[in-house]
Amino acid sequence: MKRLAILGSTGSIGVSTLGIVAEHADRFQVVALTAGRNLALLEEQIARFQPQVVAVPDRENAQRLMERLGHSGPRVLYGTEGLITCAANSPADMVVSAIVGAAGLEPTLAAVQAGRDVALANKETLVIAGELVMAAVAESGCRLFPVDSEHSAIFQSLAGHSKDDVRRLILTASGGPFRNWSLDDLQEVTPQDALAHPNWTMGRKITIDSATMMNKGLEVIEAHWLFNLPVDRIAVHIHPESIVHSLVEYVDGALIAQLGIPDMKTPIAYALSYPERLTLDLPPLDLCRLGQLHFAAPDSLCFPCLGLAYEAIRRGGTTPAVLNAANELAVDAFLQEKVGFLDIPRIIGAVVEKHAITAATSLAAILAADNWARGAAQDVIHEIQGASYL
Ligand code: NAD
Ligand code: MG
Repeated sequence: MKRLAILGSTGSIGVSTLGIVAEHADRFQVVALTAGRNLALLEEQIARFQPQVVAVPDRENAQRLMERLGHSGPRVLYGTEGLITCAANSPADMVVSAIVGAAGLEPTLAAVQAGRDVALANKETLVIAGELVMAAVAESGCRLFPVDSEHSAIFQSLAGHSKDDVRRLILTASGGPFRNWSLDDLQEVTPQDALAHPNWTMGRKITIDSATMMNKGLEVIEAHWLFNLPVDRIAVHIHPESIVHSLVEYVDGALIAQLGIPDMKTPIAYALSYPERLTLDLPPLDLCRLGQLHFAAPDSLCFPCLGLAYEAIRRGGTTPAVLNAANELAVDAFLQEKVGFLDIPRIIGAVVEKHAITAATSLAAILAADNWARGAAQDVIHEIQGASYL
């Protein structure tokens, strides 16, 4: 029995993870769950999976949940401390890190420091604090398994090969709903348009990140830390069918890839059960029926977020943490219709330009940069809103 703590259990990845647990109840036991605002779903999950401890964002929600659960329920904790307790002090063998955004960093780092294996969906953790987290992984001896489909594909394509023989990594990107759109068209995009991803069903923030291609930028940084390669050896190919999940190019010219239908259950299950594979109830990939697969270079003019991410890792230090925080605020402002789609890269670029870089080797320095960037992004958003009323 592998004991799991699932951080962000009510989200898209969290729900898929629990689906796998339910299919393989003889292999996994849930010991901790954490959720944001969806207490009704958390309650259902508690009834079904019987965790020993749960965490919610604040005291009021914790109180409300305890009243509803009565004495027989799990321990109910709250806030960042509650998340850290679930991640590092519950009896979990593996922590599934599936909170969205920078909020995932502290519990994920705590899990690593406590020596827990981590199935990592929360890519922001490595974007913000890759150096710190990878040093903690090396020190604690825990294992970090990628859940992101591209990184899982690379992890699978590296198996049995020497890292010294890798020439470069190729991350695939669907191109999102606006592939082939012009800058003029992108001017008019609404949140509803951007939330309609052609291939994947995901949480709102990552869906917008996919539409701007910041998601791929964050994934380049994630791959840089996970696989210890400079970003100039990590390429991005647009692949609209989302069938080839990513590739490794070797020094002899061989390309090794992992293919499959676009369903996160496959990479989640691989992270949960590595090195074994779990039987999953998914339709097979029928390549003959599919007929063709397409690849193209990304359009850097219409999707500048990808270039901003490459530039952030080249500048180094706290720059990727600032990029991430500015992106979180810009996406939020776009979803609230305070700014336009093309303002997202403008806001991020403006905040990154203003940032005084420091070393990203302590949690305090990273959190300070994150906090500064949120204030700076808010200022830029206000400026844009002010200008649009003139
Ligand atoms: P989601 O929005 O569906 O779910 C996020 C979860 O985190 C929810 O349980 C929510 O309640 C919780 N949460 C949000 N803010 C929180 C906070 N401040 N404190 C505590 N909990 C909070 O997101 P998702 O699509 O499941 O994505 C989760 C992570 O996985 C993201 O980092 C995303 O980039 C990554 N990821 C997702 C997919 C996917 O297919 N959904 C694929 C690859 C990677
Ligand atoms: Mg991905």
